[in-house]
Amino acid sequence: MQLPDMKQAKVRNKEKSDVIRVNIEPSLIGINKTYFVKTYGCQMNEHDSENIRAILENMGYTEAEDIYTADIAILNSCAVRENAHNKVYGMLGRLKHAKESRKFIIGLCGCMPQEESVANEMLEKHRYVDLVFGTHNINKLPGLLDEAFKKQKIEIFSKEGSVIENLPVKRDSNIKASVNIMYGCDNFCTYCIIPFTRGAQRSRVKEDIILEIKELIKEGYQEITLLGQNVNAYAKDLDNDYSFSDLLAEISNLNILRVRFLTSHPWDFTDEMIGVIKKSKNIVPHIHLPVQAGSNKILKLMGRKYTKEEYLLLIKKIRNSIKDVAITTDIIVGFPGETKKDFLETISLVKKCEFDLAYTFLYSKRSGTPAALLEDDVSKEQKTERLKKLNVLVNSLALKNNEKYLGKKVKVLIENINPKNNELISGYTDTFKLVNLVGDKEKIGKVITVKITEAKSFSLNGEEV
Ligand code: SAH
Ligand code: SF4
Repeated sequence: MQLPDMKQAKVRNKEKSDVIRVNIEPSLIGINKTYFVKTYGCQMNEHDSENIRAILENMGYTEAEDIYTADIAILNSCAVRENAHNKVYGMLGRLKHAKESRKFIIGLCGCMPQEESVANEMLEKHRYVDLVFGTHNINKLPGLLDEAFKKQKIEIFSKEGSVIENLPVKRDSNIKASVNIMYGCDNFCTYCIIPFTRGAQRSRVKEDIILEIKELIKEGYQEITLLGQNVNAYAKDLDNDYSFSDLLAEISNLNILRVRFLTSHPWDFTDEMIGVIKKSKNIVPHIHLPVQAGSNKILKLMGRKYTKEEYLLLIKKIRNSIKDVAITTDIIVGFPGETKKDFLETISLVKKCEFDLAYTFLYSKRSGTPAALLEDDVSKEQKTERLKKLNVLVNSLALKNNEKYLGKKVKVLIENINPKNNELISGYTDTFKLVNLVGDKEKIGKVITVKITEAKSFSLNGEEV
């Protein structure tokens, strides 16, 4: 058994991380048995689940229709906010109940068990959870699972170690794919658990990234998303002069339709990056640039390393350089010490930035983070009321931005049949606008020109031209 340690997870030393190239041997252990992986949280977790699925299929398991019929039920969890925690605990409760009438393995992985308190709870109170592993040892899954059949197996490493290459992957889509360019984060924004659960920043070497993208192109993928907690800090941990803008410039020469990237931290967003995006044909004009708050006092308490004025200047530069760019953001409401005046500064900043979309969150105290030591002094009512006000504004700006598309022709990469209405097909513009239109499944995977006829806050309707 190996339990996590938040103090160790916080340590950052200057050693460059090494690359481990794994070779997971196929086996027939899981033949005639099934698995199901349920994912919570961000795209990074989604991508880890694509690795987990491939490892299990490599062992002979096949995917079950749903979690309640699977022989191996794995929850890939998110620790970023309390409500994500609660959802996972709720699901564990339902699985525990299901286990009373049927024998199967319950696994918990991802960010939650990287927290000391959660791993200890699994050990002390949730003995029915057979397997607990973390974000740094997914490659060890076959051996861990083998042991979990005998008795509860918990293995979490707080020291992140290496960059693991060559993990198998079973992708959710054959049109668009995620490509990790780095792991972990060294920013330690004071509210955030991620630097603890995902460890130190480790960038993949560019040759591995480019190779993966070239393979995806060969397989026919049309869109890739470069993933990292702070993509524009890419390569800062490597011993070279290479930067994220260099990587973008190289990728922009590859023969792929669209390149997205997330998430960018305003602090590391350089003029070079803006220059590369402006010139490139395939890097999309959509930038997700979390601002988190509009008051300098709160930004400082959050450890975000920029001021409201610097953020506004950056937005101005981006808008002046990249034609028709869409900008989205994340905002936290009710951080400790946020007064009404601070909140109104957030409102004013949102109005100035006219975001295409903002993902808004109530502040959630994460034990072990620096902000957890501050008094959580904004009442629940105030937080909820502020969030409501902010959402009204955010939605109205989203609608206003979408209305600019009315009557225009846009290119849409069709991804699927609309799950609610099978006469409709859906896809995204390069600016990350969801478009619905009448069409058939032959269009899936194709880029079509659509004239926009109706704008809503979160989607557009149109017709093919
Ligand atoms: N690395 C990315 C994403 C981090 S998690 C970034 O830096 O932007 C995604 C979002 O969750 C964050 O941008 C933040 O808005 C929100 N978040 C993170 N920790 C939170 C917390 N403790 N309470 C509420 N929201 C939080
Ligand atoms: Fe968390 Fe900040 Fe790192 Fe994003 S940049 S993962 S918010 S610490």
